[in-house]
Amino acid sequence: MADRSYNAFEMAQSQFDKVADQLDLDEATRDLLRYNAREYHVSIPVRMDDGSFKVFRGYRVQHNDSRGPAKGGIRFHPMETIDTVRALAMWMTWKTAVVDIPLGGGKGGVICDPHNLSMREQEQICRGWVRQLSRDMGPVNDIPAPDVMTNAQHMLWMLDEFETLRGERLPGFITGKPVGMGGSLGRTEATGYGVIFTVREALKALDIPPAKTTASIQGFGNVAQYAIELFNRIGGKTICVSSWDQKDQTSYSFKKSSGVDLDELRGITDRFGGIDKDKAKGLGYEVLPGEAWIEQKVDILIPAALEHQITKENVSKINDSVKIIAEGANGPTTPEADEVISKRGIFMIPDLLANAGGVTCSYFEQVQSNMNYFWDKDEVLGKLDSKMTSAFNAVSELAEKRKLYMRDAAYVIAIGRVAQASKDRGWV
Ligand code: GLU
Repeated sequence: MADRSYNAFEMAQSQFDKVADQLDLDEATRDLLRYNAREYHVSIPVRMDDGSFKVFRGYRVQHNDSRGPAKGGIRFHPMETIDTVRALAMWMTWKTAVVDIPLGGGKGGVICDPHNLSMREQEQICRGWVRQLSRDMGPVNDIPAPDVMTNAQHMLWMLDEFETLRGERLPGFITGKPVGMGGSLGRTEATGYGVIFTVREALKALDIPPAKTTASIQGFGNVAQYAIELFNRIGGKTICVSSWDQKDQTSYSFKKSSGVDLDELRGITDRFGGIDKDKAKGLGYEVLPGEAWIEQKVDILIPAALEHQITKENVSKINDSVKIIAEGANGPTTPEADEVISKRGIFMIPDLLANAGGVTCSYFEQVQSNMNYFWDKDEVLGKLDSKMTSAFNAVSELAEKRKLYMRDAAYVIAIGRVAQASKDRGWV
């Protein structure tokens, strides 16, 4: 998103092409799945707190809905681009397919920086985005959710606007709602926990006891924080995290060899996951350059921030100690870097599998919203664990059997399912 020379959609298409060849997909199926089914570009006028008007640009892209309604988050980011949203929509289709939930793929974005917007202004953006798109979205065709810099409060404003326009209560329109307002227990934790469910299974496959392992994590937002929480609980130790510093407009890594203290760090972090570097120093953290997270001598690396982070420029910095990379973020590794990682024999848990816990729990939220009957947290997390574990096993068994890289195995399963559904419907 930050680097304009890199195009996420081209990367998503090249990942698709590679697997389309392996699956020997016919021309029409390729032509269908290489592109998004529908996309919307909207302008959102907002009256700012100072009385002036500002127009924000927003997007919604629906990639494929052959297996169920399009599903995927909405991001707020100053450097959002339509091609990034296109890529993320396609990745959502593969993600819902690999965990085998009855949903398709979509994504949304608004070019804005919530750091510089009041809550009222953010509310107006949420409501404006829904007003522009309400005819083309809904519980049975396209369902948004939180993503980068959006949260449960944003989801509730969007739901309220949608229900007001439709004149009905339709809680299935959106997921990631606050608990008590149609949200599911465990949804906040789901993506980060899901990453660690897959890490736990990878450690099992590699015969490494979790209690001896260390991790370095890029990011300290929702995904990273809950990944650290569960990783600690299975006995691991996180020694480094990184975060964006809004004031300095750069990122820093924060290292503590004895293990970072999650609660302590949460206490000095803003609501966007930005850690206060002076306070961190005071608490005994080494404050290092943003990219230092990648070169740590650890067993596990978890990129859990944005796309395009492990690239051909920095992939060589990955320490020989690293045995597993689990992609908490969407699209953090470029194809060139991925090739190096694959050759080095590092066990890759690709984004579509590693971070699928969020959308899986979103599906559970929809089911609960539709029944108007809500499960307790243990039930939600138990179901999440079994869904993630069976998806992991299916991918690793295929990888083993066909001697495939884990990312390719995950793609073979996902694209195979979506191609089949599109064919069964008579689309291609
Ligand atoms: N934004 C999350 C993702 O990238 C969750 C999407 C959802 O719950 O629909 O997977």
